[in-house]
Amino acid sequence: MKITNPATGVVIAEVAADNAGVVRNKYNVARAGQPRWAAVPIRKRLETIAKFRERIVALHETLARTLTSEVGKPIRQSRNELNGLLGRLDFFLKKSLHALREERVYADPKQKLDERITHIPLGVIANISAWNYPYFVGSNVFVPALVAGNAVLYKPSEFATLTGLHIAEMLHEAGVPEDAFVPVVGDGATGAALLRQPIDGVFFTGSYATGAKIAAAAARRMIKVQLELGGKDPIYVCDDVDVKAAAAAVADGAFYNTGQSCCSVERIYVHESVHDAFVAAFVAEVRGYKLGDPMDESTYIGAITRRPQLEILKSQVADAKRKGAKLLVGGGAVRGKGNWFQPTVFIAVDHSMALMRDESFGPIIGIQSVADDEAAVALMNDTEYGLTGGVYTNDAKRARKLLARLHAGSVYWNCCDRVSPRLPWSGVGHSGVGLTLSTYGIQTFTRPKAWHLRSA
Ligand code: NAD
Repeated sequence: MKITNPATGVVIAEVAADNAGVVRNKYNVARAGQPRWAAVPIRKRLETIAKFRERIVALHETLARTLTSEVGKPIRQSRNELNGLLGRLDFFLKKSLHALREERVYADPKQKLDERITHIPLGVIANISAWNYPYFVGSNVFVPALVAGNAVLYKPSEFATLTGLHIAEMLHEAGVPEDAFVPVVGDGATGAALLRQPIDGVFFTGSYATGAKIAAAAARRMIKVQLELGGKDPIYVCDDVDVKAAAAAVADGAFYNTGQSCCSVERIYVHESVHDAFVAAFVAEVRGYKLGDPMDESTYIGAITRRPQLEILKSQVADAKRKGAKLLVGGGAVRGKGNWFQPTVFIAVDHSMALMRDESFGPIIGIQSVADDEAAVALMNDTEYGLTGGVYTNDAKRARKLLARLHAGSVYWNCCDRVSPRLPWSGVGHSGVGLTLSTYGIQTFTRPKAWHLRSA
């Protein structure tokens, strides 16, 4: 399998992809290793994660540069991802013991009755991952899964393989046995082969289209299926905000990571009374973004990781123009080597346009004027997705009222494009089922076992 730098089009590495036979062998290795790993005391398992954290700190710059070279993420944003990962690891290190402790939920000395819950690892799980934040979306799964005593078959995205192999190496150096964390290398065909093994759970991060295939493949197996999928995340800017500050924050939410985030702002609704002022400030902000070499410290817009995404972006632009949207900035791919798309801003958009309905997953955004809060809520909920949604207003009550009505896993007041390890990360509708992060996202890799104990 060739690994191509999306910023230059140059092949930077070649790795052997795992065929069905290799996948089968890897599954057998993990199956044999899992009970041994589960028998290691949880404190010792946590020690390996603490050592993994030390490896990340030690190799920080090398890891950031590898990530940038294979996904085209601006180098400062690669460093930010690694710094964010440290915070997530700290959360798991701090909270796992408590989340996975044995709980006594009832005790009746008269009846000599005791009721308890223990958290049993699921067994061997598949972690099929995405490329856009490989450290985040991977660690949300494999860290708590390992801490809980599961063996993990980890398939990084074919667009973030080198990062995935770094992760495996660092975990093994940190003391996680090679038969408890097993990297599986390859594309969708390898992922499909992995799903044919008798695994005990599949934890997937990726697109709705692939997620639907994963759910179908697992349907007859009675195993745990978690799907963290895409989004079409809206923001509503009310009439009472500091327009300039809101425009800068929302533009960052739309264009950070070159718009290739599951929780990127993908639709903007602005109260008509501040629409023009907001658009002017937003456009000024976007014009200030530097597109270029992702290794350059001043670059903000990097490469488009997957080449086929350029066609999706072009078709959304063409569709929006055809239906009457007004292009204010950008609007096309950048010629030359590698995969590049200009930061693009449209106004006068509506929900007949693909730009406002389908996940763009790139540096392109539509801004729609709305008459009032009712219209904004109706438009925000007019989507098959439901990952995040947010409101910018100075009025706390108004924000709470609006956010309570959003069909989304996460809601934001005066912030956006944000994930916290302390809060559950989940979606509704086409954004997925299940969750990661928070203490729920630790317990999700276990099966609660009910103990009814009566002493004689
Ligand atoms: P993708 O669906 O193309 O691929 C995801 C993974 O699935 C890859 O590892 C791929 O090799 C594998 N795969 C593909 N076909 C498969 C099959 N038939 N069987 C088994 N595995 C298969 O997604 P992507 O391009 O890597 O990621 C982008 C998508 O991920 C976007 O939609 C984004 O919104 C979403 N995403 C969601 C979250 C979240 O937390 N909700 C986080 C990051 C990304």
